[in-house]
Amino acid sequence: MTPVTCMAGRKLALFGLGGSGIATALALKAGGADVLAFDDNPKSIEKAQAAGLTTADLRDADWSSFSALVLAPGVPLTHPAPHWTVGLAQAAGVEIIGDVELFCRERSATAPDAPFVAITGTNGKSTTTALVAHILRKAGFDVQMGGNIGTAILSLEPPARDRIHVVEMSSFQIDLTPSLAPTVGLLLNITPDHLDRHGTIENYAAIKERLVAAAGTAAVGIDDAPSRAIAERLAAAGRNLLVLSEDMLPRDGYHFEGTRIFATLGTSTRKVADLKGIGSLRGAHNAQNAAAAIAVAEALGLEAEEIEAGLRTFPGLQHRMEEIGQLGDVIFVNDSKATNADSTEKALLSFERIFWILGGKEKAGGIEPLRALFTKIDKAYLIGEATDAFAATLGDEVPFMRCGTLDNAVSAAAEDARASGAEEPVVLLSPACASYDQYPNFEVRGDHFRQLVRALPGVQMRG
Ligand code: ADP
Repeated sequence: MTPVTCMAGRKLALFGLGGSGIATALALKAGGADVLAFDDNPKSIEKAQAAGLTTADLRDADWSSFSALVLAPGVPLTHPAPHWTVGLAQAAGVEIIGDVELFCRERSATAPDAPFVAITGTNGKSTTTALVAHILRKAGFDVQMGGNIGTAILSLEPPARDRIHVVEMSSFQIDLTPSLAPTVGLLLNITPDHLDRHGTIENYAAIKERLVAAAGTAAVGIDDAPSRAIAERLAAAGRNLLVLSEDMLPRDGYHFEGTRIFATLGTSTRKVADLKGIGSLRGAHNAQNAAAAIAVAEALGLEAEEIEAGLRTFPGLQHRMEEIGQLGDVIFVNDSKATNADSTEKALLSFERIFWILGGKEKAGGIEPLRALFTKIDKAYLIGEATDAFAATLGDEVPFMRCGTLDNAVSAAAEDARASGAEEPVVLLSPACASYDQYPNFEVRGDHFRQLVRALPGVQMRG
């Protein structure tokens, strides 16, 4: 835990006790602050009380006595409408901050030289955060990874000069972190997302910009217009900037061509890595993630061999194009996290001979956006509620089978893939659907897939 000593003796209001809220309140208490915690959900309040926290209905509190309102990132700050605690805090002139802000202040007060890597983007945050942490750990560093991935930031060990914090941040967390100034800030990409919570793409992009605006080194993907504009502003302001792109670079940074990643510094360009054969980093999207991780690692002074060793051994994240097993030439890939066509597109682009398991609870637009990739599909295996709609879209273009359940789909797809004689056939669970019609969440769906694959006679499982 990171006790927040910089708030010692102050009184704080804290709202939002799911997720990271309790950890945050405990870290404040351990540092000597006086915290009054609350939530709209009575169960969360009970949990907080069981953890030894003081709770009170903040509607009845004396707001003039609070130094700050600490808000959970899931609670609306601005859109669709500010939460009632936000209104009360603003009326009393109380600042509103989140747990990463508390970390930043504690770092400034106790270990300002402690290396701190902050990572954001609309897509690829978790993969890149895990990859950066893995490369650094493999190279022997003491790494603390958390934030929007895995562990709440204040549950990590405290910042220290010889310890690197690698922190994933959502836009909601950035919005609550006014003094964010990481050693290295990484912005992967910006595409419209969460606009219900940010109003407009301009507002969403402006929030993302804050993660790189005050970074010691900023690494910015420039393959979308909002991110490109941010990079231009950083360059104009003379900031230390590395750009990431699929194309040749207008300035210092990293670009990727297929599986190869190149670094450009001034007028010289050198190859820094080749992802060929690294199953956990297939596809152009992962080339961007890998280029980004390399940019961070080089900015922190790692050598090429150390980076290469980290890339080669990256296990990948569960449920994201995760290679889970092999049966003869057939590989089995769990991409259960792909709950919409956009994510499934990344997987279809990454393989050639695909035995595709899809379906579940359909999202607007269905699989129509994937039509251009249908030529890569040997056969589709439909499950869940979306079956009829997807069957209609596949039509005569792709052979398909109505399987109903994942059990039926896995056995049929495995048999067909083996019999196909293709060079590297892949049985791919990439549903392009939410899981709620048949599973509580995508993790349970992915775990069930793994269990079914494990039960196939002769299969060799990875990991
Ligand atoms: P996040 O944490 O931002 O949600 P993840 O690393 O968990 O991102 O990846 C989620 C999905 O986003 C992946 O399954 C993939 O489909 C897609 N994705 C991953 N990296 C990128 C990227 N760099 N650009 C675009 N899409 C990506």
